[in-house]
Amino acid sequence: MSARHIVVVGASLAGSRTARALRDQGFDGRLTLVGDEPHAPYDRPPLSKQLLADAWEFDDIALPSTDDLDADLRTGVPAAALRLADRELVLADGDRVGWDGLVIATGAAARPWPATVPDGVHTLRTLDDARALRRDLTAAGARLLVVGAGFLGSEVAATAVALGVPTTLVEAEELPMARAIGAVAGDFVARLHQEAGVDLRTGTTVRSFTGADRVTGADLGDGTHVPATVVLLALGAVPHTAWLRGSGLRVDGAVVCDEYGRVLAEDGTVVPDVVAVGDVSRRPHPLADGPADGTLHLGHWSAAVEHSALAARVLLHPAGDGDLPEPPVTVPSFWSDLHGVRIRSLGLPHLADEARTVEHDLPGRRLEISYHRDGEPIGALTVDRARRLAAYRPLLVEAARRRRAAPTTVGSVPTTV
Ligand SMILES: Cc1cc2nc3c(=O)[nH]c(=O)nc-3n(C[C@H](O)[C@H](O)[C@H](O)COP(=O)(O)OP(=O)(O)OC[C@H]3O[C@@H](n4cnc5c(N)ncnc54)[C@H](O)[C@@H]3O)c2cc1C
Repeated sequence: MSARHIVVVGASLAGSRTARALRDQGFDGRLTLVGDEPHAPYDRPPLSKQLLADAWEFDDIALPSTDDLDADLRTGVPAAALRLADRELVLADGDRVGWDGLVIATGAAARPWPATVPDGVHTLRTLDDARALRRDLTAAGARLLVVGAGFLGSEVAATAVALGVPTTLVEAEELPMARAIGAVAGDFVARLHQEAGVDLRTGTTVRSFTGADRVTGADLGDGTHVPATVVLLALGAVPHTAWLRGSGLRVDGAVVCDEYGRVLAEDGTVVPDVVAVGDVSRRPHPLADGPADGTLHLGHWSAAVEHSALAARVLLHPAGDGDLPEPPVTVPSFWSDLHGVRIRSLGLPHLADEARTVEHDLPGRRLEISYHRDGEPIGALTVDRARRLAAYRPLLVEAARRRRAAPTTVGSVPTTV
């Protein structure tokens, strides 16, 4: 039996998957999972969909139990600091935990409003957030204002109108999600919202909220006022890295890793036996290539899962045992459920310089777009055309392999899409 102790910080999707992958790959040493939430690990995507709609409860979103992993699960206690030189994790309750291998899986938090807000203004990242939002949405006379028409804001607006709640969706750009998926797909989403009865206001922003104790609405930059009893701020996510301050790790918005998920020190060298996975991390991707330190922060469910298996492999790779094999080429993927349709994307549509519309059928609720950069495939998106999307995967793997073999500088360091 191994005498090593591996500690996983963050007991959600990426953390629990990495713990399972470690056991599946034969790790028989001590395993500890540290998580700051009081709940058993659960899945987040349903929080803006089925759980908010009251169709599902906790049991439906619980991640596979970690009971069979022979791990010490410490929930309800955040990690407060990392001492790399001593190989020690300091917990908020003062406890110190020594480690031989460390997995950083602390995910992200919802980006807050930059000033104090009245009651009734929510963000959505956790189960408790979703329950609080659901309570306000199901109160008599509820009117919802969503700030930000990215995937999360759009999903919540869609869920709310389906519940019969009058909903206004405010977006600073001219179209929802246009930076992530382009103008044609953004326009398609705008029309889905409008057909479903969402009051979509684009090209404007919320200046301030009205209401002393409890929110009554918001004043917009275009001079209009939107009445609301409940507000959701959907302004993006901020990786949970505060606990790593002073640790000596390179943090650039998210924890910076190499393509294997091994974290980098401030001087750019690989830190032995420490990996980062999921939403807290950023790493290079061959489809993006770009400058030497060009890394992607994806914030996608599938990325968290893919990172986990590789992280376990890297941690269990004997130190000093030659080079690791080339990292597998993975194709980023994302889905979102809106107004009864499923949007799926592959690759990195936000890096495209050209979008080719293959099918556009708004009444039939079907869409297919292929995205290209320098004439090479870089992504694809479909609405309710899952099988067609699958056909793009091998093309994107090939394109990524070609870029890895002969990188051409894209020169962009994108953030969460
Ligand atoms: C409402 C919602 C809907 C989504 N829908 C989709 C979707 O449709 N499709 C899709 O692809 N993706 C979706 N996502 C994104 C997806 O859920 C994330 O990519 C995924 O949860 C990332 O997993 P993670 O384990 O890296 O991070 P997280 O799920 O954020 O988990 C990190 C865990 O670490 C804990 N933690 C933080 N700091 C500390 C600390 N100091 N000490 C200990 N623990 C700590 C956190 O509380 C949390 O429990 C959605 C996300 C949200 C919030």
